[in-house]
Amino acid sequence: MSVRVRFAPSPTGFVHIGSLRTALYNYLYAKKNGGKYILRVEDTDQNRYVEGAIENMLGAMSWAKVEHDEGVVISEDGHLVQRGDFGPYIQSERLSIYKEYIEKLIEKRHAYYCFCSKERIDQVREEQKSQGLTQRYDGFCRSLSKEEVQAKIGNGESYVVRLKLPENKDIAFDDVIRGNVVVNTSDMDDQVLIKSDGFPTYHFAVVVDDHLMGITHVIRGEEWLISTPKHVYTFEAFGWEAPKYAHLPNILNSDKKKLSKRQGDVAVEDFMQKGYLPEALVNYIALLGWSPEDNQEIFSLEELEQKFSLDRVSKAGGVFDINKLNWVNSHY
Ligand code: GLU
Repeated sequence: MSVRVRFAPSPTGFVHIGSLRTALYNYLYAKKNGGKYILRVEDTDQNRYVEGAIENMLGAMSWAKVEHDEGVVISEDGHLVQRGDFGPYIQSERLSIYKEYIEKLIEKRHAYYCFCSKERIDQVREEQKSQGLTQRYDGFCRSLSKEEVQAKIGNGESYVVRLKLPENKDIAFDDVIRGNVVVNTSDMDDQVLIKSDGFPTYHFAVVVDDHLMGITHVIRGEEWLISTPKHVYTFEAFGWEAPKYAHLPNILNSDKKKLSKRQGDVAVEDFMQKGYLPEALVNYIALLGWSPEDNQEIFSLEELEQKFSLDRVSKAGGVFDINKLNWVNSHY
């Protein structure tokens, strides 16, 4: 099966260098394995959408020469266009697809309508908290009959659609970087898949799209590791094979905390403006998490394409060191 990977940014603002690294590792993995690298825009959270963020992100990727094979691009006359046979690659243009698939999941009884108010859910969580229990939705709407659901929808009641998790089942997957991960459903929530505004949540859209776009390997930041059992179970509920997962370690600052804007430049745009060479930034961030077999320090993109492998990505976070970046920059 040929490798298909994706970079799936949400258009919420500037491009963190961690995002460039995620894109780069996906790109390198595709190149190394003769596969395809796709760029998909995940904009289903309309509250977090920032105008111009897609164009900005595409500009940063093209500056870094991390070019994708399919997905969203800017045409010569400055418009966003989508290229490839598995599109649309902008999630807000795929709403009818999510609708079709949520209906299938409801039909199979792996998802259900939930009409609970925020107040009720908050109260349940408060009670669980006071009893020292895992705070999660208590499944109140799981047992509603088809007729009850239809009557409530007919009355104009607002609803979400939730994933129906089986009781006390271990969900396991083998992460290429982290090894075997097992979570029991008693520690998981019946995840909301469709929100009350009719939009899918990230957790639903990501599964449907990774399946329909034929993604073989999901390479993404470790903040998503905790969500992966939900995704793995959703694949199973559909009867689909899940992709392989590889969760990348965080990029850290010198205090070993996750690198954030407060510590200085973390946006690709900052380095572009300051005149850093794209080759140097790419070379430097390639080494923040991945190590080559020898102690070579200066790489062209072509060399990285030949040498990159996921089995040399470490579990530990790479520490961002501006002096080292400056050193690499001066060697081009
Ligand atoms: N849209 C998510 C983000 O902004 C992507 C997570 C994933 O790659 O699955 O980070």
